[in-house]
Amino acid sequence: MADLPPLREVIARHGLSASKALGQNFLFDEHLLDRIAALPGDLNGRRVLEVGPGPGGLTRALLRAGADVTAIEMDSRCLPALAELEAAFPGKLRVIQGDALKLDHAEIMGGEPFAILSNLPYNVGTALFTRWLGGEEWPPLWTSLTLMFQQEVAQRIAAKPGTSAYGRLAILAQWRAEARLAMKVHRSAFTPPPKVMSAIVHVEPAAMPAGVSARMLERVTEAAFGQRRKMLRQSLKGLPGAVEALETLGIDPQRRAETLEVGDFIALARTLTGPQG
Ligand code: SAM
Repeated sequence: MADLPPLREVIARHGLSASKALGQNFLFDEHLLDRIAALPGDLNGRRVLEVGPGPGGLTRALLRAGADVTAIEMDSRCLPALAELEAAFPGKLRVIQGDALKLDHAEIMGGEPFAILSNLPYNVGTALFTRWLGGEEWPPLWTSLTLMFQQEVAQRIAAKPGTSAYGRLAILAQWRAEARLAMKVHRSAFTPPPKVMSAIVHVEPAAMPAGVSARMLERVTEAAFGQRRKMLRQSLKGLPGAVEALETLGIDPQRRAETLEVGDFIALARTLTGPQG
């Protein structure tokens, strides 16, 4: 295996001062990076998409684990450092410069399955997550998502009913996937340290419930959690047929959105989706 210089040296040599606008908080601890790369299981020979490799800390860990990595990085200053990694792991790393929000990930990955790992830039994390989990097509081409978020966002993704963190993100992440908070990461692990703690979420696709449109589920959760302190009969009033659907399903309309299980939201969306879908 290639002997690589310490990441701090790479950063200094390439003048990679962290840009706040690009959400750059780098990880240097190779043991921590190896533990993150191990979260999706054995990556040897597997195809991985990494968003935001920066100077390549997590990228190295993925390459050490034997993955075939495609990395999308927006900051052209990082490209020379990543080119060194490409040279150290011939044929195992492909770097694409661009904005991950604007690129078609399935197309980049040639329409073949791939795992996604990323120490996401906080400013685009939720937008990417919503895109990966959304849409009518299921299962997705990605086989797992292993993503760093601010801890508060990670908790909202993995939240259970009856908690204040439970809401639209939890339903989106859990209605046809398994989502768990896999690892907490202290702010001091990053350079520069962000203001808040971080955590890694691991998500794997599960079966898509029959007869439910993703769009309808979105509309239901948007309405229900849009006024989360109100009773469902009030918050769902604007959605045609929703209050009647509560009755059909035996859900007390005096309940509030955060008391409903993910399965209740699925049932509501199914009732409202109708036979046409
Ligand atoms: N992976 C590195 C690590 O763990 O040390 C860097 C993580 S840093 C939190 C986020 C990285 O995402 C930065 O390198 C930043 O330039 C890049 N980035 C920010 N916005 C992006 C976007 N829209 N598309 C692709 N990369 C982006």
